[in-house]
Amino acid sequence: SAIELEDVVKEYHSHGEVVQAVKGVTLDIAEGEFFSLLGPSGCGKTTTMRMIAGFEAPSKGLVRLHGQDVTNVPPNRRDVNMVFQSYALFPHMSVWDNVAFGLKQRRTPQEEIGRRVGEMLEIVDLAGREKRMPRELSGGQQQRVALARALVNRPRALLLDEPLGALDLKLRQAMQIELKRIQREVGITFVYVTHDQNEALTMSDRIAVMNDGLVEQLAGPREIYERPATPFVAGFIGTSNLLAGSANGGELKIGGGRVLVPGHDGEVTVTVRPEKITIGTEEPGQGLSAVRGTVTEVVYLGTYTSYAVDLAARGETIITVFQQNVHDATATAERGDSVWLSWQAQH
Ligand code: ADP
Ligand code: MG
Repeated sequence: SAIELEDVVKEYHSHGEVVQAVKGVTLDIAEGEFFSLLGPSGCGKTTTMRMIAGFEAPSKGLVRLHGQDVTNVPPNRRDVNMVFQSYALFPHMSVWDNVAFGLKQRRTPQEEIGRRVGEMLEIVDLAGREKRMPRELSGGQQQRVALARALVNRPRALLLDEPLGALDLKLRQAMQIELKRIQREVGITFVYVTHDQNEALTMSDRIAVMNDGLVEQLAGPREIYERPATPFVAGFIGTSNLLAGSANGGELKIGGGRVLVPGHDGEVTVTVRPEKITIGTEEPGQGLSAVRGTVTEVVYLGTYTSYAVDLAARGETIITVFQQNVHDATATAERGDSVWLSWQAQH
C-alpha cells in the first residue's frame, strides 16, 4: 500500500467544546492509484488530508506511508507533497523559477534542475511559457505551474485539496482530464479531495464517500453510483429516488403497485436511479417493480426529459424519472397524466 489510515480520529478543542472532525477513518490506498475523498463541506476531508501530509497529528489511530508508521513524523520527512486550492505561486518569480524553487533549495546540481524542470513543464503542457510571470497566466495555467512545482520533487504521493475549486466549469472539466493524464504519465499515487461528485466520478480509480467524519462507502465510481451503500451516498452522488416501507415475501406494496426486493423482508429502504425507470400508460407485466402515479412536472433538458411523478396512494412521495430524448423526442407523458413507472428488480 501507498497510504494506510487505521481507525484515525481527530478531535479539536475550541471554546471549551470538543469537535470530532474525523471520527474513525480506515483507508488503504494502493501505489499508483487515483483515490478521491468525496463529501460535503465540513465532513472532514481536509483534516484527513492534513493527517496524511503530517500537518495534523491524529488524536487516535495510525498513519502509514509505504509500509512505514509515520504517525509522529513531521511533514518535511514524509514522502508526499500537497497542492492547495489557492496555488500560492511566488508572484515575483517566473514560471521556471517557481518550479525550480524546491530543487534549488535542496542544492540540486544546476544541470539536473534544468532537465527536471524542462521535463515537468513539458508534462503539464507549459513548455515555451518558462519566462512568464504568474499574473500573465490564466487560472488553469497557474494551477498547472503549482502542479509542476509539487511534482518536480518526485514525491511518491501527491495530495490535492480541491485544486480546481477556483476555476470556472469549462476549465475545470478540461483540467480534470489533464490531471488524470498527468497522473497516468508520472505514475504516482494521487489523493484528491473534492465536494464535486462529477469530478470524483471522472477521475478516480476509487472513491471514499465521507459524511460527518466517517467513510460511508469506499468503492469504484461505477459501484458507488450503481450500488450506493447508504441513503446518504445515493442522494449525494447523482439523483436518486428513495422508497421505504415494510417488505413481505420480497415485495414492498406501494399504492396499487409493488417494489421487488428479492431476498429482503421487514423494514427496507430502496433506491432507484431516475434513468432506470420506464414511464408508460399500460400496467407492466409481473417480474418488474411497478408503481402508479400522476405526472406533476415535465421538464425538457436536451439530452433527456425529467418527469416528476407523485405516487397516487402515497401523497408526498415524488419519483423523478429521466427519459433519454432519442430520435424525435416527443414527451412520453404530460402533466396530469396517470402513469405506471416500472424498473427491473436488479436496479
Ligand atoms: P472539509 O474539508 O470536508 O470541508 P474539514 O476537515 O475542513 O472539512 O473540517 C471538518 C470539521 O472540523 C468541520 O466541522 C470544521 O469546522 C472542523 N475543524 C476543522 N479544523 C478545525 C480547527 N482547527 N479547529 C476546530 N475545528 C476545526
Ligand atoms: Mg476542505
